[in-house]
Amino acid sequence: MALITKAPRGTADALPGDSCRLAEIEKVASETASTYGFGEIRTPVFEHTELFDRGVGGTTDVVQKEMYTFDDNSGRSLSLRPEGTAGAARAFIEHGLFNEPAPQKFRYGISCFRYEKPQSGRLREFHQFGVESFGSAHFTAETEVIELASRIIGWFGIEAVLRINSIGCRECRGEYRAALKEYFAAHTDSLCDTCKGRLETNPLRILDCKNPECHELAAGAPVILDYLCDDCRAHFEGVKSMLDGLGIKYEVDPMIVRGLDYYTRTVFEFVSPVLGAQGTVCGGGRYDGLVEELGGPPTPACGFGMGLERMLLAAERSGYEFSRPEAPDVFVGYDPSDPAAMTAAARLVSELRDSFFYADFDVCSRSVKAQMKYAGKKGARFTAVIGGRELESGEVSVKNMRTGEQTPVRLDEFCERIFGLISDDLVSSELSDEVAGELAERGIDIRPDGDGKE
Ligand SMILES: [Zn+2]
Ligand SMILES: [Zn+2]
Repeated sequence: MALITKAPRGTADALPGDSCRLAEIEKVASETASTYGFGEIRTPVFEHTELFDRGVGGTTDVVQKEMYTFDDNSGRSLSLRPEGTAGAARAFIEHGLFNEPAPQKFRYGISCFRYEKPQSGRLREFHQFGVESFGSAHFTAETEVIELASRIIGWFGIEAVLRINSIGCRECRGEYRAALKEYFAAHTDSLCDTCKGRLETNPLRILDCKNPECHELAAGAPVILDYLCDDCRAHFEGVKSMLDGLGIKYEVDPMIVRGLDYYTRTVFEFVSPVLGAQGTVCGGGRYDGLVEELGGPPTPACGFGMGLERMLLAAERSGYEFSRPEAPDVFVGYDPSDPAAMTAAARLVSELRDSFFYADFDVCSRSVKAQMKYAGKKGARFTAVIGGRELESGEVSVKNMRTGEQTPVRLDEFCERIFGLISDDLVSSELSDEVAGELAERGIDIRPDGDGKE
């Protein structure tokens, strides 16, 4: 029975209050990306397993060990998406978007699934914001996505170092791969078992290995930048000079190869020191071979993925002030023994909601005192209580919960008057925030220590 009331390992619930923080990160990312012309794309949570096998790479840890793969009732092998790029590329091909003007730019906020050891900021179901730009081989396409990532990270005040590298193209990588293989083959004894296998299948991946001995060995390995062909070298110079021109600081780090097979030329990571050793908040690069690999026409492309849980952690540790969870603008209480009062309260609330106020009333049949206690806990800005007397006079007293001030308001003008009261209160509470801030700078604290209620 305990299983029923416990979420699976590596998953997390986001409750109201916390969920609004994740939503704020996604919203900022999404709105920023839309100013760059990235349109939202929605693709399925699961795809044919072959897509990830081809698109992410059959030799990667992601595909070999971390995918949630299952047969459906008709025996097809399906997998929950471990990342967002393969699905976007599949949709790009399926809908013939290569016939549309280039570039085709997509953004998405999705959940992804990987069977990994759960740790801080790393879950088995995690959320990612990503963008993909299909159709341009020019370096301005990837500097555009790098600038976008940098802007989003900067919005949240997250300090992050941009590390870039080029891993070359098919031609120059062949030569590099041979050199790497030769280097590691001479030290096979020091390699972990996984890397011994990688020596044949994909020696580049050894550079990514977290095993300390492999890591140490990798530090002395040949560097890809020494093997770049002329075109790749010129492309990488273009990336760097464009970043210089945009005023975006970066470090060239030849150890970045990224964990997925589809990358070519530019790869990059934003690493935040506030997250400690595993501090990558965003990673991406160019993947010119992917669309063709999946059966589409040769199409250069680039993009990034940003981990929302990690962004949240980094933003919190960087002291970013998230918007507070919403509190009711108005709570309308009523005498529970009077059905007419209850209906009047429900109708007022309905009218307020129709004008997009956050309005609430009691649905638990509580006493007026208990209703007001609830309204206080929810942080309502204004309250009113309707009983027989209010119905008779057609007037109700509206209380400002911050100042305690009471204002008589006619029931048939309630909505318009509330609008005025809220506007006035917003102005004066912001003013008092400002005054309190100035006093606090001089070491005087005048704020009530609770939530600002009496
Ligand atoms: Zn090359
Ligand atoms: Zn290893």
